[in-house]
Amino acid sequence: MSSASEEKRFHGVAAAPGVAFGQAYVFTVETDDVVRYHIEPARITDEIARFESALIQTRVQILEMQQQIAEAIGAKDAGIFDAHLLVVEDQTLIDEVLRKLETELCNVEFVFQEVAHRYIESLSKIDDPYLRERALDIQDVTRRVIRNLQGKAPRPFLSMDAPHILVAHNLTPSDTATMNREKVLGLALDLGSRTSHTTIMARSLGIPSIVGLHNATETLTSGAEILIDGYNGLLIVDPNEETLREYRELELRQGAITEQLTELRETKSTTRDGRHIVLSANIELPEEVDAVLSNGAEGVGLYRTEFLYLNQSTLPTEAEQFEIYRDVAQRVAPHPLIIRTLDLGGDKLSDSIESGDELNPFLGWRAIRFCLENLEIFKAQLRAILRASVGGNVKMMFPMISGLDEVRRGLQIVAECKEELRREGSEFADDLEIGAMIEVPTAAIAADLLAREVDFFSIGTNDLIQYSVAIDRTNERVAHLYEPTHPSVVRLLKMVADAAHAHDIWVGVCGEMAGEILFTPLLLGLGMDELSAGASIVPRVKSAVQRLTMSECTQLLEEVLQLDTPSAVLARCTAVAQRHYPELLG
Ligand code: PEP
Ligand code: MG
Repeated sequence: MSSASEEKRFHGVAAAPGVAFGQAYVFTVETDDVVRYHIEPARITDEIARFESALIQTRVQILEMQQQIAEAIGAKDAGIFDAHLLVVEDQTLIDEVLRKLETELCNVEFVFQEVAHRYIESLSKIDDPYLRERALDIQDVTRRVIRNLQGKAPRPFLSMDAPHILVAHNLTPSDTATMNREKVLGLALDLGSRTSHTTIMARSLGIPSIVGLHNATETLTSGAEILIDGYNGLLIVDPNEETLREYRELELRQGAITEQLTELRETKSTTRDGRHIVLSANIELPEEVDAVLSNGAEGVGLYRTEFLYLNQSTLPTEAEQFEIYRDVAQRVAPHPLIIRTLDLGGDKLSDSIESGDELNPFLGWRAIRFCLENLEIFKAQLRAILRASVGGNVKMMFPMISGLDEVRRGLQIVAECKEELRREGSEFADDLEIGAMIEVPTAAIAADLLAREVDFFSIGTNDLIQYSVAIDRTNERVAHLYEPTHPSVVRLLKMVADAAHAHDIWVGVCGEMAGEILFTPLLLGLGMDELSAGASIVPRVKSAVQRLTMSECTQLLEEVLQLDTPSAVLARCTAVAQRHYPELLG
């Protein structure tokens, strides 16, 4: 075990709670150190000979490693390197390299890297965790072959088949969604912020994560022992005994709190002076419904359906969507399932939809804007939702609404779908509630106009804050400006809540702010009727609600409206939270 002086600490953004300790797997595509140079046709045979001996050398290294592992921990674990052996024996790949050598007339390490990367890229796009892991195997072996061609010393082996902490520059939300949960103990990313969809997904999967580390992939090497503190955003390389002991204790304390909170499962989220706040959960994948139920949420407040479309080469059909929505609705019934219509775009791109490169994807062809121009895709989803509403308590909402025209157009298309279904004799719940997400400042400011047209509002604070403060929510360099306690944000939230109540409709919050218990008193004071957070956070929010009174929350709001800086507002919110539930704040 290393001494205290060898321990190195890196600070990033705490993205998903929990502690993970294990070997780092640094996922990078190393292209820089392979230079391309021209070779004369006469040298092709020499290049082929170099290539063949590098493949043999790699094969020998893999076999040696396999042997060592078999002796140390058993044949089963050593078997994980069989996939690596297959790569060096892959005749299609080898033939392609030989062919390209002749046509491109350049050094073999460059040609081999090019061919291998094409393989890696196509495999990593396939929606199959097994094949995606094979892509990582090829990547590992490619690096080894290239190092052998360059005469460099071999790197330590590390297989993605063994549990590890994944260190990467960035991951897409769908990479994270399809990650093998059993193998990935923790996640450390150079990029990202608390509200990027990759982070939201990691939280949903319960993977301790740190994002916004800037240069973790440059600083860390695969095989290094690292600890991820997802509560405080701390990454520790070679943690010493003392540190490990502290973290074991922290985990025990957190475990005890989680245990206590499970007892709240059947209780109501009602304040001490009797106000009931609906506490529901956000999901990205149907599998998360188990966690919604086991954490005692009152239904699903936000189902991010676009995750059905990510990483797919073909779009899900109406029939496929219907099956999924109906199943989820029946499982959460009698509680509501609020299905958000497709919110593709921004940091969620689908392989099945050609959206072109956009300079500012978050300001681009996203969500309702995309749906209103792709009626076939939109209608297939609306029809599936309507049909699934029979036998469940289904509601739907439109994302990224910027004004009245979009709401009216959306409602008109729903009406057309209802008409079609009626003609076909298909059943649906005619009184299904339809809401608007309020996440664009123009919608918040015109909330009084929108409130006349819809049945509810759900405030997407992740986007509302992004667009109000003008910060890209995935960019770690401006993450510090993402401030839910910005006085302008508080005023916008108040406008929306007041407009909803003036028109007798309910209003909820489904952005990440709803799951931050520091803000629970403020959101209650603003009069929010519903809060929807990641399933695992629901018990904490419930506990916070149960220890507050509405009178105190209303008073907090009044005070906060007189304050002029985000830090002053945050300090007031923290004081109230500290007074009532210090141990939950950790
Ligand atoms: C939000 O913007 O707050 C929201 C809930 O939607 P998403 O995070 O999926 O953009
Ligand atoms: Mg949003």
